[in-house]
Amino acid sequence: GIRVRFAPSPTGMFHVGNARSLLFNWVLARQSGGAMVLRIEDTDAARNRPEWVQGILDAMAWLGAGPEEYEGPLFQSDYASHHQDAISRLLAAGLAYYCDCSREQVVARTGSSHKGYDGFCRDRSLSAGEGRAVRFRTPDEGVTTVVDLVRGKPTFENALIEDFVIARGDGSPVFLLANVVDDMVMGITHVIRAEEHLPNAPKQQLLWEALGAQPPIWAHAPILVNEKRQKLSKRRDRVALEDFRAEGYLADAMRNYLMLLGWAPSGDREIVPWDDIVTEFRLEEVNPSPAFFDVTKLRAFNGDYIRALPVEAFIQACQPWLRGESAPWPAEQYDEDAFAAVAELAQTRVALLSEVVPMVDFLFLSEPALDEVAWAKVMMAATARPLLTAAVAAYETAEWRADALKATLEAIGVEQGLKLGKAQAPVRVAVTGRSVGLPLFESLDVLGRDRTLARLRAALD
Ligand code: GLU
Repeated sequence: GIRVRFAPSPTGMFHVGNARSLLFNWVLARQSGGAMVLRIEDTDAARNRPEWVQGILDAMAWLGAGPEEYEGPLFQSDYASHHQDAISRLLAAGLAYYCDCSREQVVARTGSSHKGYDGFCRDRSLSAGEGRAVRFRTPDEGVTTVVDLVRGKPTFENALIEDFVIARGDGSPVFLLANVVDDMVMGITHVIRAEEHLPNAPKQQLLWEALGAQPPIWAHAPILVNEKRQKLSKRRDRVALEDFRAEGYLADAMRNYLMLLGWAPSGDREIVPWDDIVTEFRLEEVNPSPAFFDVTKLRAFNGDYIRALPVEAFIQACQPWLRGESAPWPAEQYDEDAFAAVAELAQTRVALLSEVVPMVDFLFLSEPALDEVAWAKVMMAATARPLLTAAVAAYETAEWRADALKATLEAIGVEQGLKLGKAQAPVRVAVTGRSVGLPLFESLDVLGRDRTLARLRAALD
């Protein structure tokens, strides 16, 4: 059966590129009834951190790929003896050799414009020794063709593939070797990863062959670029999955959107249930050209996903922002029923879950959060005070229901020569602190008479 692996290095934030590789692997395993191995490539001791390992597991679980979806986690560092065996085998077979050249020596021989190693130590038959690296002897002639489901059959001239290092001077294996040996030991049939690794594929395939094994089928997914067509970068672009999660992107929306980076389902559909994606996705249909990671589009996607939720699920999904530490009101002032009463109105108006906070904060804060600019603009109008004064008087006795509150304010507006929109503005800013938000009369209804009147009076002080 098909065996794939997701092989992140715990050297930084889990980013959207990692997520896309994970999803492609996961979908292939699911649709083929195969298996996915999670392998943590933790052999770069200087850059690994345990919290990044946890970050990988958390991000995967958030995306729906929890422990029941994979074998592992397996750790590359546990496979050191396999790496050493492979290096010994290659040395014994004459397919690898020791090398004591420094970079300076190579440059002195070949000139700095020459790329790669010149093969100086190939036939020197050096024995093992302190500081001696091991290099793999690549063929001088012919080509190496890899079978890549996304790219067809990329072909590489062997003469251009240098005798690359497989073990450093201290004996530790390099990525190229460890990654191949692990894949062999773990029975991997398909290597699906990002395009950045395409140049490694011919070198790795030569290692598979030299070690006497059948190379895997490869698939190098397109690089992700920003709106300027630059390759996404952790320093410049917003890429950490954790940040998207904290802003209130839904895992379902993220998953669906990431699958569209280079691939499209049949028909004109973009919002596609996960199960359909799992059935329909074909690596062979993935477009190899760079894929635009369009945050604006992702955001719109998320809004669609939010609106498609049953309201109960929406209320649930909002809880971390409403009850979490980040909520701007004291925990005891959160009122479940009040939120439930406006949830449907909020649900149709947000693209991110975090956007509910400024929309409903007037219900849970003792004093509304003032948007100073909006307040100044609305309250400066000569019509504001007379309107608020009349509203206070009328709302003292009005029936407390959205439609009655609206009719009352409409009538005041008629008396004072103001259209409803103009009449609403000072009431809205006095009560919510903002000039935009949920429908006003429903908001007043939920806020209640006492708090509404108190805020209208405070605005007149
Ligand atoms: N640890 C490598 C990475 O994260 C894995 C590359 C591969 O999938 O072969 O880029």
